[in-house]
Amino acid sequence: MAETSIKSMDAIVSLCKRRGFIYPASEIYGGINGFWDYGPLGAQLKKNLRDAWWQDMIMNPCWGRPGPDGEPVRCVPVETRIIQHPKVWEASGHVGGFNDPMQTCRQCKKLVRADHVDEMLREAEWFGPLVSLFESGDHLDIDRLRQWIKKYGAKQAKGMALVREQKKVLELLLALAEDLRNRGEEMTLHQFLQRIATPPESAQLCDMCPNCGGDLTAPRAFNLMFKTFVGATTEQTDDNAAYLRPETAQGIFIQFKNVLDTTRVKLPFGIGNTGISFRNEVTPRNYTFRSREFEQAELEFFCHPDESQDWYKFWRDFRMEWWQSIGLRGDNLVLREHDPDELSHYSTGTSDVEYRFPFTAPGFGELEGIAHRGCFDLSQHQEHSGAKLDYFDTERQARLQAQGLPKDEINKQCRYIPHCIEPAAGLDRGALALLCEAYTRDESRPSPEIMRFHPRMAPIKAAVFPLVNKDGMPEVAAKLHAELFKRFGHLGFIETDPKQSIGKRYARMDEAGCPYCFTIDSETLTDQTVTVRDRDTGAQERIAIDRVTSYLEERLDG
Ligand code: ATP
Repeated sequence: MAETSIKSMDAIVSLCKRRGFIYPASEIYGGINGFWDYGPLGAQLKKNLRDAWWQDMIMNPCWGRPGPDGEPVRCVPVETRIIQHPKVWEASGHVGGFNDPMQTCRQCKKLVRADHVDEMLREAEWFGPLVSLFESGDHLDIDRLRQWIKKYGAKQAKGMALVREQKKVLELLLALAEDLRNRGEEMTLHQFLQRIATPPESAQLCDMCPNCGGDLTAPRAFNLMFKTFVGATTEQTDDNAAYLRPETAQGIFIQFKNVLDTTRVKLPFGIGNTGISFRNEVTPRNYTFRSREFEQAELEFFCHPDESQDWYKFWRDFRMEWWQSIGLRGDNLVLREHDPDELSHYSTGTSDVEYRFPFTAPGFGELEGIAHRGCFDLSQHQEHSGAKLDYFDTERQARLQAQGLPKDEINKQCRYIPHCIEPAAGLDRGALALLCEAYTRDESRPSPEIMRFHPRMAPIKAAVFPLVNKDGMPEVAAKLHAELFKRFGHLGFIETDPKQSIGKRYARMDEAGCPYCFTIDSETLTDQTVTVRDRDTGAQERIAIDRVTSYLEERLDG
């Protein structure tokens, strides 16, 4: 098969727009940075991803596989609000600590996340030639620097001190080179970059803006939560201020007690929550990967502290397997265990499921984090709210009573704040990974772009085509379409389309990622068979029309 392996993000973005997967939000008004909408196919793709999570995490957790205790895994859902009492975010640490270091460009006024500057600089068109210019010679070639200013600087890096005040900066640069030489040292790339970004009158050396080359301020903490005001008040004060949630997880912790009191769940068990979260990201980028509004699917799995390490390993491994099961296979997907110095102070283990996106390659980007959070969150909410969020373990009590332990000792051992394992997935990043993984070019086909979604994820499940729009074929197609729609319509689109050549209709389905097309032709009218065409191989076979439903059942359900 003549496939090319390099995936171009531009080609993926363009297909997503053209076929209605993803649109820029508010596009007719010029768009809004960090926000994306889903078109018909994208909305269904994301629904399929969310439904699969819901099914495999809550309704039939881990495909019915037992947990490390040998018992079936038990989980229940909640659906909690985007706006909660502001104290929730004080207790969780988001008011005080949910900050990114931010730098502002003094020239173009854009904000940049301090830890993204290097990466963004590497992506800037003007940056590579500037660096190679420094690296290619053993002394600073001022003439080549001037050529660079003409070719790139004047257009793309207007804010750079070197471009704005060429003469003065070059003088300073030469003086520095001279000074270093006298001391027997060489100028480093870092020194060079700082010097050409820093205005001649500035006492402090500064970093360079990836947007215009201008000088950046020192990093300042920037809280990522969106603030809003609740109720019809004339004044907007701290008394009526609230935050849009930056994660769905806290909704689970603050309803933990209600779930315990109103259902028959017993430890160990999980509570799942899906929904929109907001983060006022300093530098939203890489398509939907880092957006300001995105959807999460989070589970908090509560267990006894002594069993928590086993559950951590169990969830970590299952989550990796789950992403593989919906089509992210091969070495584009990795499970990365955090190093001890990366861990939050309350965590004894955290792993990320990471995917190699075209824009992160050869590196990876996080799809989901699985964290052992200890009893941090419940303890925090217990302290801040005054509500008791501990658990009395009646099953353990019965065991200890049978062993004849004194009552005080039993009570001490059976009342505790559960430990928590949190698999926290991003559905938008997940959908983006599915899109990137599915995108394939096969130059041997007349229409080379194919979206190879796993059948469970494909937004269009099947298509039914009359070969020609006459001779009784449209009627047979309409009947089969209606049957398939009734049986599989809850899983996704069932398409039908009588127009254009059959090759063009197949190509449209390939681009949309429809796994199976059924075609009604003249033979159907005589022998009751249809052609089924496989998206991935393009191969066609004939099957009886009354076998189409079971053919799809075998391939789509579950
Ligand atoms: P990052 O380090 O990339 O900012 P994070 O570690 O802060 O992510 P978590 O707080 O663990 O992310 O959130 C859980 C999941 O939510 C992430 O794995 C990711 O899939 C998703 N997510 C977080 N921030 C964003 C965002 N700005 N846009 C899209 N998805 C996001």
